[in-house]
Formats: sequence, C-alpha cells, structure tokens
Amino acid sequence: MKNLICLGIESTAHTFGAGIVNNKGKVLSNIKDTYTTEKGGIHPNEAKEHHLKVADEVILEAIDNAKIKANEIDLISFSQGPGLAPCLVVGMQKAKELSRKLKKPLVGINHCIAHLSIGELLTKCKNPVLLYVSGANTQVIAYEGGKYRIFGETLDNGCGNFLDAFARHLGLGFPGGPKISELASKGKNFIELPYVVKGMDVSFGGILTNLKQKTDSKKYKKEDLAFSTQETVFAMLIEVAERAMAHCSKKELLLGGGVCCNKRLQEMAKIMCKERNAECFIPENQVLVDNPVMIAWQGILEKNKATKKIENIDIKPRERTDDIKVDWR
Ligand code: AMP
Ligand code: MG
Repeated sequence: MKNLICLGIESTAHTFGAGIVNNKGKVLSNIKDTYTTEKGGIHPNEAKEHHLKVADEVILEAIDNAKIKANEIDLISFSQGPGLAPCLVVGMQKAKELSRKLKKPLVGINHCIAHLSIGELLTKCKNPVLLYVSGANTQVIAYEGGKYRIFGETLDNGCGNFLDAFARHLGLGFPGGPKISELASKGKNFIELPYVVKGMDVSFGGILTNLKQKTDSKKYKKEDLAFSTQETVFAMLIEVAERAMAHCSKKELLLGGGVCCNKRLQEMAKIMCKERNAECFIPENQVLVDNPVMIAWQGILEKNKATKKIENIDIKPRERTDDIKVDWR
C-alpha cells in the first residue's frame, strides 16, 4: 500500500495543534500552542482568538518539522467535536482552507475516540476500557457491539474543569490540575469530602461547593484540601473504570486526557488493575493531553470517510462517541 500521510488539526478547547502521521503509525510532527491564564479559567472567545493568532504558524511548523512538502499530504483531518464551538470553528476553517488549497480530502474526527485510538497505537493495547479524564470530558469508553460506547460519565463538569475551578477558588491560574497536584503532595491529613458515584456515573458539582465552603471557612489547610480532593475524586474515577472493566469483561485499562498525567491517579489505576489481574496502559503525557497527533492518526483510520465535498461538513460540539459509524476495526 502507498505510504499515506495525514495532517490532523486539534482545536476543541485550549490547544491548537497540527500533527502529521503516516499510515504505518509513525509520528512525523506534533506541534501545538496552548492558551493558558495566570488567573481564571478558559474563556471560549479568548481561546478562539488565541487559536486564530497561532493557527497558520503552527500548521507551517508542523509541515516543516515533518520534513515533507505540503503537496505530499494525502489527507486532512480535524477535531469535529465534542468541544467549545468557537474553538472548533477555527480548526475546521483552517482544515477546509488546507483541503481546498492542496486539493486533498477532509474528514471530521471525534476527539474522544481519537484518544482511545492513539493510546492503542502507542501502548499496543488491543481492546481496552478507556478512562478518559480531561478538562471538559470525563467518560469511561469501550468498544462493544460495533460501537464506542460510554459506560459511565460525569453528570456535570469534567474532572479537569472541576480541578481548575477549585484551583481558581484558591487564586491559582489555568491549568489548575498540576497546581492542585503540587499542593496535594504537601498535604497529610485526609478531610472527608462528598463521594459521588451514581451507578457508573460520577458528579463533581457538590464536591466543588463543599470545597469552596471549606476553603472559605479558613479551618483547613489548602494542602490538606488538595490532597483529600485527589484521594476522593480519583477513587471515584477508578471505581467506575473498574466497574466498566468487570461489565465488559475487559482485561486492559487505558488512560487518556490531561488529568491522567497525574501521578497519583496513575498509581491508583495501576493498583486497581493489578488487583484484578488486568493490565494498565499509560501513554506519554504529550498524548494524554489534547494533541493533534491523535487526530491525524484517527484520520488515517477513517480515511474511507474523507471527502472533497467539504461545503456541508460542520462542527459537532455535542457529538457522542456512539454516534460514530465504526468501519475501521
Ligand atoms: P486536556 O483537556 O485533556 O488537555 O486536559 C486538560 C486538563 O488536565 C486541565 O483541566 C488540567 O488542569 C488537567 N491536568 C493537567 N495535568 C494534570 C495533573 N498533573 N494533575 C491533574 N490534572 C491535570
Ligand atoms: Mg481531550
């Protein structure tokens, strides 16, 4: 088979990225630029402005870095959803521009499924349950009965957004997850917080309110609150991931999403897998967080759906994994 090259664009939230991958699964480039703040969370329109500012340069650098000429690209892919609409639009427009300019077909990609596929490619797991914990998303996903199904998910905020919101309340900037993690490493005393698991789902809204009240009461050290937050919410995530593994009789757990960079969450995932005689697969941080490489690789997998009739292609900010027709596995 001819060597196929796909350029993928990621822009669901804070990160604008362009990645290039070939059909053997070789990563040729992974260039991204991430919007951050000193104080406060992601403002969708500011993130959009950020993406507009950096997009052309990121794409050029990705092509340059891959040591290819633009006309060697066979296919363009972009994150179609789920995500923040103003951000998704920028990625789609840039992808369409490239598709027209290079006269190459375009395919829209589901961001959550891309996390699972890149994990399978790079860690060599075969049929995992994906614990996907990112800023906006918190889901337990597995391929069952011909579709990627969501077995459990958050009923309100994504875990990352929850951590970011708590960090913001403590006066820390975005992203807050790493800052909470640093504080947590200095905490020693476990403070009881609400533990909210409903069947296979989790919820963080009540825990956030409780944490804000505890912070404002000034009765607790912020290090102890951060420590207790991690212990509590990560245990919730591991509980629902384990239940999905039992339900699907799967022996592999794959981690995905920026929150899974957290070493304590990784440790809990490994312990759970060991106890049930399963394997835990953890990709490198640079593909746990939002990245364009996974969008490019998913483009290769879904090349049969790529088209040059791009006028009717649109973003899908609320797309669900089980909406996707799977013809590549
Ligand atoms: P993503 O949307 O997948 O790129 O992930 C971004 C989210 O991951 C943000 O909410 C970050 O606060 C969170 N995050 C990144 N690193 C860590 C970490 N070490 N611990 C906890 N959360 C993290
Ligand atoms: Mg993501």
